[in-house]
Amino acid sequence: MPFDIGNILRPKNTILQRCQRDEGTKARLKYNPWYHHIDSQNGCRIQVDGREMLMMSSNDYLGLSNHPRVIQAGQEALQKWGSSTTGSRLANGSRSFHRDLEQQLAAFLGKEDAMVLSAGYLACMGAVSTFAEKGDLILVDRNVHSSLWSGILLSGANVERFAHNNPSDLQDILVTEDRDRPKMVVVEGVYSMEGHIAPLQELIEVCRPFNCFFVVDDAHGLGVLGDRGQGTVGYLDRTNDVDVICGSLSKSMASTGGFIAGSKTIIEYLRSHSKQTIFSAAISPTQAAAAKTSLDILQDEPEHRERLWENTRYYKRMLNQIGANIWESETPAVPIIVGNKERAYRIWKALMDEDIFTVISIPPGVPPGKDLIRTAVSAQHTFEDLERMVDVLKKSLKKV
Ligand code: PMP
Repeated sequence: MPFDIGNILRPKNTILQRCQRDEGTKARLKYNPWYHHIDSQNGCRIQVDGREMLMMSSNDYLGLSNHPRVIQAGQEALQKWGSSTTGSRLANGSRSFHRDLEQQLAAFLGKEDAMVLSAGYLACMGAVSTFAEKGDLILVDRNVHSSLWSGILLSGANVERFAHNNPSDLQDILVTEDRDRPKMVVVEGVYSMEGHIAPLQELIEVCRPFNCFFVVDDAHGLGVLGDRGQGTVGYLDRTNDVDVICGSLSKSMASTGGFIAGSKTIIEYLRSHSKQTIFSAAISPTQAAAAKTSLDILQDEPEHRERLWENTRYYKRMLNQIGANIWESETPAVPIIVGNKERAYRIWKALMDEDIFTVISIPPGVPPGKDLIRTAVSAQHTFEDLERMVDVLKKSLKKV
């Protein structure tokens, strides 16, 4: 072989080579159990590769994503404002639809003000990283969503994890810490994988003597909990004890985007300090209109939430009857714990083969040993849909 000087000089550990060596990437180039191509969709009925499937894992809890009022509002906003904001609000200005949505959201959540951003991920990241800084201490439930972890990392603050939904573990950590150090507590209202509700009353009581800044990501509680769907904080009557409620508009609100709600001071501070809003384009007209209309519907059509809870109770009753492990889910986010990734894959595949669309979640997305199939109930499911899901699951659990 002729001598090639390039082979000697060429670095052996580049980022590109790391990507090329990654075994998971190599395998997923051949077959990827995530990122399916959905050809068409009508509520919880979807077409995948020409097959009609039942969607059992979307977060369209209230089923509003194809509600005629939401669609009409999106179309009108597109006509009136065009397709995009093409820039950040700090630079290019806020449109009236931004302020309308924010004022309505703030009032709905019982807070003085709110800010909307183009993604829930950005909102939750910003809700942490804008307020916490180097030298502070963040105490975080160890099961929180990736967006909050990103905010924690970006803040540069020190971090202590406490056991999931465990106020006494939080207290054990707090009592050993320097009282004068600024502290933030970060939790979710409803945990997206587990379906657990945070024990906000107990957590807040534990924090009271320590003056912690309290942040709740309620992406999965908004629209679902509370007599008007106002979310976990309102449902547990803790609106005045929580400094910041953040979350996503991509679940019950049938849009995309995120929000942060708090006092006037907190939101004003955010406007001029949050990189996620200063350097990122504002939520688009159609997204804002869809979210605002969903908020209206939440208030004047309670039947969607009622139907969601009827479905949830019916589904869980059947799952309990077949002995499925649902990790004590308390909400429409219902995991089926299967214990390891091979089982998760085989059960998921058996469901797919029977035209039921779910999603696998394995560590690090969930704690070790909690490999699961994530399912979520929607107001659009019929009892027959849920019966079919449980029937196929029962067969799959037996087979695997
Ligand atoms: N927080 C939680 C708890 C979530 O589940 C999600 C979305 N999966 C987000 C934040 C991010 O929201 P979005 O999808 O709107 O970016």
